[in-house]
Amino acid sequence: MDFDHAVIGAGVIGAASAYHLKRLDPGSSVVLIDREKRPGAGNTAKSAALYRNIFSSRTSQLLATSTIRYFLTIPEKLQIRPTGYLWMFSKDQWDASKNALSNLDPVKDELEMWDPERLLDALKIRTDGSGPFPGVHKGLLGRLCGSLSGMSVAEHYVEEFMALGGEVLLEKEVKGFELKNKGSRFAPWDEQGLRSITLSDGSELSGGKFLFCLGAWTQEVLGRMGIFSGTLPKKRQLFGIKVDDPSQVLEGLEPGNVPALILPAAGTYVKPLLERKLLITGLADDLGQPFSIDGDGPDIDYFERAIAPVLSHYFPHLKDWELKMKWSGHYSYHLPDKNPVVENKSNLHWAAGTSGSGIMKADAVGRVAASGLLGISDAELFDGNRIPTRSLSLRHRDVTVESFVI
Ligand SMILES: Cc1cc2nc3c(=O)[nH]c(=O)nc-3n(C[C@H](O)[C@H](O)[C@H](O)COP(=O)(O)OP(=O)(O)OC[C@H]3O[C@@H](n4cnc5c(N)ncnc54)[C@H](O)[C@@H]3O)c2cc1C
Repeated sequence: MDFDHAVIGAGVIGAASAYHLKRLDPGSSVVLIDREKRPGAGNTAKSAALYRNIFSSRTSQLLATSTIRYFLTIPEKLQIRPTGYLWMFSKDQWDASKNALSNLDPVKDELEMWDPERLLDALKIRTDGSGPFPGVHKGLLGRLCGSLSGMSVAEHYVEEFMALGGEVLLEKEVKGFELKNKGSRFAPWDEQGLRSITLSDGSELSGGKFLFCLGAWTQEVLGRMGIFSGTLPKKRQLFGIKVDDPSQVLEGLEPGNVPALILPAAGTYVKPLLERKLLITGLADDLGQPFSIDGDGPDIDYFERAIAPVLSHYFPHLKDWELKMKWSGHYSYHLPDKNPVVENKSNLHWAAGTSGSGIMKADAVGRVAASGLLGISDAELFDGNRIPTRSLSLRHRDVTVESFVI
């Protein structure tokens, strides 16, 4: 099989990139490949699927704001719940975040400051501190924030891609590669690059350019070709608890209208789905969690030791709840700046390193990846802003560190 461009990985990043490639280069043949049965069935399906444009780096703000504005044009299709995002800070966190908070200026029109009294009007939350749980000093509510369905985002881009004539191969795993010339025996004067990939059904795809959008699997695959992708995987876990009586948590807010909550204790976050009597919670566990794609699923001990006590402190009225679901996935981290990576070596391109916020940046990252592959120096985002394609590369990187990662 010959093609002009092959995109490997049909999560939100690969699906959006494939669509934007076909849109920007309509005469080309583009194929999108994934080993799963459905688009988005990798880590896209494992996410909390929250979106926000509260980021300290200008690059992340641009990527997320334009992506969210695009998503808001098709709210039903993406199951958008524009409930907002309430980030709660202790006094120490607030003081330590002064620089990062001052970088929020460009998005300040979509932010509201909540003092503890305002919080108490909305939630049955405890705002004083005790032991390891700091008191709540300030709340920052992002209005251009909420949740959606990550799978629907991936499926949407695949549909649009196919409508433009793109080809999709599902249940096909990339198993092998043939490099140009002599594989690992390159002489300095040899042409470098990837000639073809072999799929699990034995077929071979060769031709133009390859864009790997493998999220947390990026290093595992590219490493086999001698490439350091600048990204590493790390396990992250989510737990769903059933709350029979939402009034144990709510004061003035309606069950279907509660913002996502970041509590001031060690990055514990809550995605409230109280109209379904559910709270989904996770925690930015870091130390002790290896950089590895392996992992044995969610760890209940971890929930009981690290998350349940935080919930019990901040929501002291929350008495009747039951752990109903649990799952884990992997972030694809780019350290130290935690912005996405869009890079290439010869005809082999990759887009990954979304560091836990790939869904909310998918449209913009897809535009940057497609533009980079086509040699366009400035990617045009949905909202008309432009971003230099190379600013997300490893070699010419031009981004500031992102501090608001959970
Ligand atoms: C617990 C958790 C919570 C999260 N919460 C949020 C959130 O609230 N908001 C947000 O924006 N982001 C969140 N994220 C991050 C988000 O899920 C990712 O940033 C995003 O899904 C990355 O998309 P992707 O397309 O790069 O990766 P993926 O969706 O993982 O796609 C990669 C694809 O590559 C395919 N693949 C891998 N190897 C091969 C191969 N050899 N051959 C063929 N196909 C292959 C996989 O099947 C997969 O479909 C969260 C992640 C986790 C784990």
